[in-house]
Amino acid sequence: MTEATEIAVIPGDGIGQEVVPAAVEVLEAVGDYAFTEAEAGDATLDETGEALPAETYDLAATADATLFGAAGESAADVILPLREAVGSFVNIRPARAYPGVDALRPETDLVFLRENTEGVYAGHEDRLTDDVSTLTRVVTESASRRLGAYACEYVQERPEHDGFTVAHKANVMRETDGLFRDTVLEEAERAGVDADTVLMDAFATRVCLDPEQFDVVVCPNLAGDVLSDLAAGLVGGLGLLPSANVGAERGLFEPVHGTAPDIAGEGVANPSATILSAAMLVESLGDDDAGAQIRTAVESVLSDGPRTPDLGGEATTREVTDAVLERL
Ligand code: ATP
Ligand code: MG
Repeated sequence: MTEATEIAVIPGDGIGQEVVPAAVEVLEAVGDYAFTEAEAGDATLDETGEALPAETYDLAATADATLFGAAGESAADVILPLREAVGSFVNIRPARAYPGVDALRPETDLVFLRENTEGVYAGHEDRLTDDVSTLTRVVTESASRRLGAYACEYVQERPEHDGFTVAHKANVMRETDGLFRDTVLEEAERAGVDADTVLMDAFATRVCLDPEQFDVVVCPNLAGDVLSDLAAGLVGGLGLLPSANVGAERGLFEPVHGTAPDIAGEGVANPSATILSAAMLVESLGDDDAGAQIRTAVESVLSDGPRTPDLGGEATTREVTDAVLERL
């Protein structure tokens, strides 16, 4: 008897409680997976005194893959350790527009490869005096090299083979972003991959004016976080963007959005981002057919099916999920 693939499910707070169960229903429809649910986030902190109980961390560290929703105020104490639990060094954030969905820039089709272990999220923040606070930004050659090598493999596996762009701010942060940019470029040269660079502020303007000039964008941690949210605005909102935190042996899959406190509990969150994250999850397990099936169903619903209010419709999370399940 072979053991079923184990998927850890951590809905977290806010709309995580609504969109993660929707994605689990979709996964149940396409494959034979064993789900184990675990707690994390603000509600868990209130109940247990810990935002991320050891059982949850251990589950993510051992399961074949993890599906995560969002955490509220405690996000930094939940998602950063969870990314570490799966050994993730890169966060893949595809941002593309879908036919039929109103988008500021319908031609947008980007993938952000965000460094996932350091930068300003390395946690060295201090309050020195009443007046002065500081933050130490950490960039290492080893993490930059690992990300650069991954970016090369990533673009080489894509049929288009278009290379990538490194977004940085090395004109100001000469040491940290200089090291990041130069190391990623070295990996590109070693692999024979085309790579160019762009200042991250210039990128923000240029991607709004003409997103087609970019394809795969390799970013330091904070820049990847901010610029992918910006790209969400170009394609129709955060309800559409999935992400994959990739490690060497396992991954953690989550929507780019957070807990959406303004709509949480109303049953109207758009489940597409989390269902598309589930597609990335099954693909990471080698189930490319299941991934393609999920994507096709989501795309079909986005083009002419029921829509949640963020996309201008009146449908509920339940109705959109049912439509995806029907079209699988
Ligand atoms: P957090 O601190 O948890 O990130 P936030 O207030 O930044 O909370 P986000 O979840 O990042 O909220 O969402 C930003 C905006 O996008 C909110 O107005 C929210 O309602 C909307 N939004 C995010 N995700 C979705 C979704 N899946 N469906 C519909 N609207 C969404
Ligand atoms: Mg947010």
